[in-house]
Amino acid sequence: MLNEDGQGTIERSVFGSLADRELSLFVLRNASGCVLKVTNYGATVTELHVPDRLGQLADIVLGFQSLDEYVASQSYFGCIAGRVANRIRNGLFELDGKSYQLAQNDGPNHLHGGWKGFHRGIWSAQAKLLGNGPAVELKYVSKDGEEGYPGTLFTTVTYQLTNDAEFVVEMLAESDGPTIVNLAHHGYYNLAGHGSGSVLSQELRLNASEYTLADPDPGVTKPVAGSAFDFSEFKTIGRDLEQVGNRPLGYDHNFIVLGAPGELRQVAQARDPKSGRVMTLESDQPGVQFYCGSFLDGRDRGKGARYDQYSGFCLETQKFPYAINVPSWRNQVILRPGELYRHRMVHRFSVD
Ligand code: BGC
Repeated sequence: MLNEDGQGTIERSVFGSLADRELSLFVLRNASGCVLKVTNYGATVTELHVPDRLGQLADIVLGFQSLDEYVASQSYFGCIAGRVANRIRNGLFELDGKSYQLAQNDGPNHLHGGWKGFHRGIWSAQAKLLGNGPAVELKYVSKDGEEGYPGTLFTTVTYQLTNDAEFVVEMLAESDGPTIVNLAHHGYYNLAGHGSGSVLSQELRLNASEYTLADPDPGVTKPVAGSAFDFSEFKTIGRDLEQVGNRPLGYDHNFIVLGAPGELRQVAQARDPKSGRVMTLESDQPGVQFYCGSFLDGRDRGKGARYDQYSGFCLETQKFPYAINVPSWRNQVILRPGELYRHRMVHRFSVD
C-alpha cells in the first residue's frame, strides 16, 4: 500500500495467531527509509529503524520476533499500557462513592492495567493514508469490569512514522460510564541499537525540576536540584546511578514535566555520543516515567539479542502514578461519559 503522495509504504503480514484470531504485523516505511513495525497484539511496536550520523540504520527499540515471545514476556516491550499505566496502591480506589478492587498483579499493587492489561489485548487495526507518512490506527474496547475497572472504554491509538523522521503516538479514549484512564506507550529505547548492551553511557536531559515519590509516599514531590534526579542538563544515565537507590538499583520515577499539561512541549532529549543518534520527545502529559530497564535480567532475548539489566530506557509520558488516591491529583485520571481522553507523543529523531 502506497502513501497518498507516493512517499512511504505500508505492508501487512501475518504475525501468528491467538485464540483463533490471526494477528498482523504492519511494516511502515517513510520517504527516507526509516522503518516502524507494529503488531495489533497489545498495540506493540516491534521495531524502529532510524539512521546514525553516517546514515546507517539501526533498530533502536527492544522487542521480539514472534508473538509467542510477547505472550511469554512480562516486560511490556513497545506496547500500550492501560487502562491505567503505572501503579495503583493495593489496586483500590473510590469513584463517586463506590469502591473498586482492581487486579493485583505487582505484589499488592495494580500495575499497567493488570494481568490482562491493554498490552495483552487483540486490537483491531487499519493502515492509514495520512499526508506526511504512513500510519496504523488501532482500536481496543475494554469492557465494563475488565480487570476490575468500571465503564466500557473505547480506545484508539494511532502510530505514525512521518517523513520528518518522527514517530508519533496519538491516544484517544471515551467511556460509557465514569472511569479512570492513564495510557502510556511503553517503548524501550537503546539509541546505539537494541542489541548493543547497556544504555548507561547514553545521555539524557529532562524538562523537569521535580519528581514524585512512589509507595510508601505517593503524593509527595521532591525537587531534583542537587540530586541524582537532576537531568536539567545532559548527563549520562549511569553517572549518578549509585545514588538513586531503589531495588533493583535504578531510575523508575515519575518526573513532573515543566509547562502546561494539555500543551505539546518538550519532555526529554536522549542522545548516544557514539552513533550521534538523538531522540527528542514532546508530549502533552503532566508527567514522564523515566525507567532505566533495571528489572531486565537477561531472560528476555529478542531479535537475536539478550536484554540484560539497563539495556533499554523508557520515557513513558503519562498522568502521575497513584493519582486516583491522591486528592490533588485524582482529577488527572478521571474520565466521564462525553469527555475525551487525549494523549500525544512526538519522538523526533536527528543526529549530532
Ligand atoms: C515501571 C517499572 C516496571 C516496568 C515493567 C515500568 O513502567 O515503572 O516499575 O517494572 O514498567 O516492565
